[in-house]
Amino acid sequence: MLIIMLSCKRAFAGRYTVNYLIPCWTKKMNWYHISTGQFGYPQPEDSYLDETYDLTDGCPTCEIGKRLKNQFRFRSEPKAKHSQFLGLNWVFDEIFVRDVVKSIFEDEQVIGVKFTKPILHKTGQPLKTIYHMLVDTVLPPSLNADGLKSEKCERPKDPGMIKFLEASGSSLVKGPFCGSTKYNYPRGDNELITMFESTFSSMPDVVRMSEWFGSGGTASRPILVSERVKEIVNRMKWRGLIFRPIKLINK
Ligand SMILES: [Zn+2]
Repeated sequence: MLIIMLSCKRAFAGRYTVNYLIPCWTKKMNWYHISTGQFGYPQPEDSYLDETYDLTDGCPTCEIGKRLKNQFRFRSEPKAKHSQFLGLNWVFDEIFVRDVVKSIFEDEQVIGVKFTKPILHKTGQPLKTIYHMLVDTVLPPSLNADGLKSEKCERPKDPGMIKFLEASGSSLVKGPFCGSTKYNYPRGDNELITMFESTFSSMPDVVRMSEWFGSGGTASRPILVSERVKEIVNRMKWRGLIFRPIKLINK
């Protein structure tokens, strides 16, 4: 706060034009990791990973490096009518929205999202009530990983774990193993994703982290939104979106 006040004092002293006063007050912008509840499973359940993602640079065991190539396929129109934001099981970094969200985000000129229709699996036709919110802007590496648990994609070493995974037919013991690292999502109320504040200057309202999170056979890159997006969601009283603050630090 002191830094912001000093910055404004300099502006008042005539070093900057009056217009520069606005960004000095809004300089400290909060960012949030967003997530949703899960409704249903991506289709077809046994092969959605290959059919939805390009794994040319990705790992079929840990999912790190996967890239979207096709629309998601749903079993049916989601029924949670009071939720404007929805998600699918197994997929933790894609968000689906009702028509009204697309419409208001476009009216409010929220930057960093595009919208496409998921597909109803049994007919091949677009869903009627849901859009997929596409987020293509990937931040440069900016995670401060101090205190975060991480795991490497490699053959397990613990004999008990190997026995358990073999008994369940898990690919986590068969491989292939790419050697990449992902971070476990912070769980506790006081544990937040910590990032460097300078990364967010001149970024759109909706971005994606470059670091991968998850555990075992799932990996995802968190979607982050600016304070402005949170303000719109709160003002519209939309349901279904969970905001967890990002802890911002100086490099
Ligand atoms: Zn891997």
